[in-house]
Amino acid sequence: MRKLLFACLGLISGSAMAQNIQNNPGSNHGNKFEQLGTILPTPNEYRTASGAPGPKYWQQRADYDIKCELDEEKLRLTGSETITYFNNSPDELTYLWFQLDENEHSSDRNADYQDGSSMGKQAVDVQIDRLTPEKNDNGVNITKLTDALGKSLKYTVNKTMMRVELPTVLKPGQKIILKIDWNYKITDRMKEGGRGGYEFFPEDGNHLFTITQWYPRLCVYSDFQGWQNHQFTGRGEFALTFGNFKVQMTVPADHMVGSTGECLNYAQVLTPTQLARYQKAQSAKDVVEIVTLEEAKKAEKSKSKTKKTWIYKADNVRDFAWTSSRKFVWDAMPAVVEGKKIMCMSFYGKEAYGLYRPYSTKAVAHTIKSYSKFSIPYPYPVAQSVEASNGMEYPMICFNYGRTAPDGTYSESTKYGMLGVIIHEVGHNFFPMIVNSDERQWSWMDEGLNTFVEYLTEELWDNKFPSRRGPAVGIVDYMKLPKDQLEPIMTNSENIIQFGPNAYSKPATGLNILRETIMGRELFDYAFKEYSRRWAFKHPTPADLFRTMEDASGEDLDWFWRGWFYSTDATDIAIDTVKYLTPEFADLPAQATGTRKIKLAKPQVNEFEDISKIRNREDKSIVFEVDRDTTLRDFYWRYARGLEPYDTASYEVPSNVNVEKADTEIQSKYGNKHIYEIAFSNKGGLVMPVIVEFTYEDGTKEVDRIPAQIWRKNENKITKVYVKNKKVKSIQLDPMKETADIDESNNSWGTIAAPSKFQLYKLKQAARGQSTGITPMQKAKENKEKKGF
Ligand SMILES: [Zn+2]
Repeated sequence: MRKLLFACLGLISGSAMAQNIQNNPGSNHGNKFEQLGTILPTPNEYRTASGAPGPKYWQQRADYDIKCELDEEKLRLTGSETITYFNNSPDELTYLWFQLDENEHSSDRNADYQDGSSMGKQAVDVQIDRLTPEKNDNGVNITKLTDALGKSLKYTVNKTMMRVELPTVLKPGQKIILKIDWNYKITDRMKEGGRGGYEFFPEDGNHLFTITQWYPRLCVYSDFQGWQNHQFTGRGEFALTFGNFKVQMTVPADHMVGSTGECLNYAQVLTPTQLARYQKAQSAKDVVEIVTLEEAKKAEKSKSKTKKTWIYKADNVRDFAWTSSRKFVWDAMPAVVEGKKIMCMSFYGKEAYGLYRPYSTKAVAHTIKSYSKFSIPYPYPVAQSVEASNGMEYPMICFNYGRTAPDGTYSESTKYGMLGVIIHEVGHNFFPMIVNSDERQWSWMDEGLNTFVEYLTEELWDNKFPSRRGPAVGIVDYMKLPKDQLEPIMTNSENIIQFGPNAYSKPATGLNILRETIMGRELFDYAFKEYSRRWAFKHPTPADLFRTMEDASGEDLDWFWRGWFYSTDATDIAIDTVKYLTPEFADLPAQATGTRKIKLAKPQVNEFEDISKIRNREDKSIVFEVDRDTTLRDFYWRYARGLEPYDTASYEVPSNVNVEKADTEIQSKYGNKHIYEIAFSNKGGLVMPVIVEFTYEDGTKEVDRIPAQIWRKNENKITKVYVKNKKVKSIQLDPMKETADIDESNNSWGTIAAPSKFQLYKLKQAARGQSTGITPMQKAKENKEKKGF
């Protein structure tokens, strides 16, 4: 039932319907300022109306103990896992659902067909072999699945999902232990796509493995949708349950491993020199190389026949990923967040050394410190960046891009692209690894929130950081598109056409507009931190964010969620007319004298007798006051009963209307004023603050910021009168380009000075990334984002 309710919510909030959501359908001024009401789910004991977890909030837990072995020759990963699943829900469970994401690459268990973009037609760059995959043996082989005592359990695989029948009903408060043995062929990530796999380097004959979504993972069972078992199509990311992990990876002895969690046996797997460097790094003031470039280059030249086992432990994480290669340089430096030390580390091949050695670990440290200020203090002991020519996040570890030219040089755009992707992917630790939203349903809840804090963090890295996503001006081209190419942000991940703008830029820009233009930094930052604090290590939904932002700030933002998140309206506020008035006290009209004739006004008589009057008249028990006290009867009482005629005579009255000269107080108040009445219209549909900049004849400027609520009673047209001391030369709307206004041609009145050369340069800076200067590497990143990284 819960699931059904949620499915309905998804349907209502999807695409075209959102335009028609009327919470106050009879309103003749529109409904843009009406409360969201039933568009949001009904609050309950699990999730309160304030947006906080309720008194009976619960979530499931899954602990994993995994042993696995990486076979570099056969390119196969074989594992054995013990799962302890805790049923904290009030429901009895008869089966559990697991995710088998590697089935994405399987020819017969392919869920890709559910992703419309791989069915051709829309996508021009679709690979023909993905339409009709050749028979392959990719995907997860389950070789054994038992309970704790070794008794086999029945299971069913449906594409990327596996349902395991429980031997007995799992009651509320109970736990169950399952054991699964599995293996799969590791695929070539660079050729076949996907978020994990290997990259092969033909020049030195080595592999770089990124092992992600690799073990059968529990689906989320929640109060708001039951089991989240929507298929993995390669795009919509993950919904995952928190738990504790112990993982042992057996890999070639000459590999270096980077992983979610803390390593428990560096003393066994590192050389004494490496271990000494690692210990030195614990208190280092600068980045320390634990494996040097020379050592990595040397390791590339031979392949060990023996193996080593690395043991890791990670508590309270939603997932676990790792990387393994003999190509890695490894460096480390501690960062301190609220008195707690966090080891920031990077792993990269020689191909990325020129960029990762100076920047990667320092970008990791800057990211966790900056995000900690805007959300919650980073709670994990390590944070790592791995160069793997992509961009994908997991708890405490992420995979990024940024390689130099063979001679070690790099372009500015590669550098900023690399910094951007590291900040973004490390930032995902907070959203959604800790503030654990359901990415398969709502991409924007992790990508949008993360892109927003990424923007704040980039801006704190360098005041000239060329951030693409965050400034309002960056979303204008998207907002301008025809309506049939847009969906509301509140659209399921798999249904989004323009993934980058819809799931990343538009929500990030919306939060930035709230922060800079609508709420102000102080109110916004407090509320956003409160959301992060309330939902850290829990599963929030969109309503929990919307409600918390209002609850903690005292701002009613329903109009903003309605317009920016539930509709495809754009901002386009126009100046229609400007009326200019000056008071002229000298030219008062001359005083008129004499008389004129008037007739007396006709008495008002209710000639129509309504039902109440009839009933009162017929009710003999009623005594009317004019009958009880007849002194109340006058001319009009008599006229109403035909007892007195209407007086049609004309009477003369004096006609001298005494227009007095305005007194000195009024004269001094308005004497030298310039009065402007400005008419604005809302052409884009979105209600937004109206920001009016006046430029006076003397060249000075003044800005008036009118809150969006000015549109409350008329969502299409408003007028506002300004009384100014000086004569206005020109008026400009939204001079700082804060509201993503899609048509600037109707934003001005009067003589607007042409931008000077300096201003033109600044405009060009702000629009960076929209223009032609996109490097091949940036392009590659954009293509990846279409798949949802
Ligand atoms: Zn992302």
